[in-house]
Amino acid sequence: MNPNLVSIVPCESYAPDVCEAAITAVLAPLGGLDWVRPGMRIGIKANLVSAAKPEKAVTTHPTLLAALTRLLKERGASVVIGDSPGNLFNASVLNRVYALSGLEEAERAGAELNRDFSEKDGFFPDAVQAKRFTYTGWIDGCDALINFCKLKSHGMMSLSAAAKNLFGTIPGTMKPEYHYRFQNPNDFADMIVDLDEHWKPVLHICDAVLAMEGNGPTQGTPKHVGALLAAQNPHCLDVLAATLIGLEPKDVPTIEAAIRRGLCPDSVDALSIAGDWRAFLQTDFEIIRNRNSLLFVGGDNLFGRAVRSAMNACLESKPKVKTSACVGCGKCRDICPAHTISIKNKKAVIDRKNCIKCFCCQEFCPVGAMRVHRSPVAKLLTHGKEGSK
Ligand code: SF4
Ligand code: SF4
Repeated sequence: MNPNLVSIVPCESYAPDVCEAAITAVLAPLGGLDWVRPGMRIGIKANLVSAAKPEKAVTTHPTLLAALTRLLKERGASVVIGDSPGNLFNASVLNRVYALSGLEEAERAGAELNRDFSEKDGFFPDAVQAKRFTYTGWIDGCDALINFCKLKSHGMMSLSAAAKNLFGTIPGTMKPEYHYRFQNPNDFADMIVDLDEHWKPVLHICDAVLAMEGNGPTQGTPKHVGALLAAQNPHCLDVLAATLIGLEPKDVPTIEAAIRRGLCPDSVDALSIAGDWRAFLQTDFEIIRNRNSLLFVGGDNLFGRAVRSAMNACLESKPKVKTSACVGCGKCRDICPAHTISIKNKKAVIDRKNCIKCFCCQEFCPVGAMRVHRSPVAKLLTHGKEGSK
């Protein structure tokens, strides 16, 4: 099979029969589920980043998870669905996420919702960044992993799809620490690619039926794309997903890292695509463009370094509080790995000199008051409808 193969099919709605037919169709060019053997325990790594109703497009849709569960159970496998949201990795947080995200539907289809909240230490000697890491122990009990992600814009990484979804194998409370450890977006991206390489899910499926544009990955706007994507290579899937919403592969640090490491081609033209992908091209998807595509290289002398530093500081995206929307809840302050946010007069205030631009505050602000801000110069130098305000 061509290692760069990505499959894409229409999936117009979340009606159960539509979802089941679409999953069967999207997996067919990849050999379907013929690799599943009776008695296997299959882990589905969903995107359950926070407790949100399915129509908010934050999480992998429960009807798709239920449909995949049925197909796996028909082959005699058992199924466990898991993720670690950006919060405590315990029963009380996960039960709320499962309930609000509609996961009972997958449970009724025969899936077990993960309740193993152990944390383990991992070692990946071939890693570029994450040779040692902590992970959610439930994965150890699985014979195979399927990564079922959601297509969303993302404050720090521009794109949340297949590669980024594996960051959820890190326990939620440790995620800010990883942001602090890997402050450079390229190092952070390499760390995520390490996780992808370490876990090597058998399949990656992307819920792009109702995607999220704008202030993603938790407070953006649902956007109907009407597609389901699948691949064995997460980075190839992401190259197609990025292209569909108007991002260049170089805009996405995880794709850039994968290209650098020889894990995927640098353009959609080099993929082998089963399906009429152009039918799903979005012309007005509100994206958040990462600074990578704009960074100034400059010379390596003193002048070149000074120009580079000044220009890059000007082009970098920054978190910005929309004070009229801020309710002073303090969630951003509590999650900020650099401890650089305080609450003054019931509003969040960022001390910029310590900000590492990880956008955890933007990701977890419950009311969307924390935004990705781009300078007018950065906006001028890019095309497309930017999600930053
Ligand atoms: S999380 Fe959002 S609403 Fe809460 S204090 Fe921070 S910016 Fe304001
Ligand atoms: S202010 Fe926001 S972007 Fe800056 S370090 Fe804190 S959480 Fe990260």
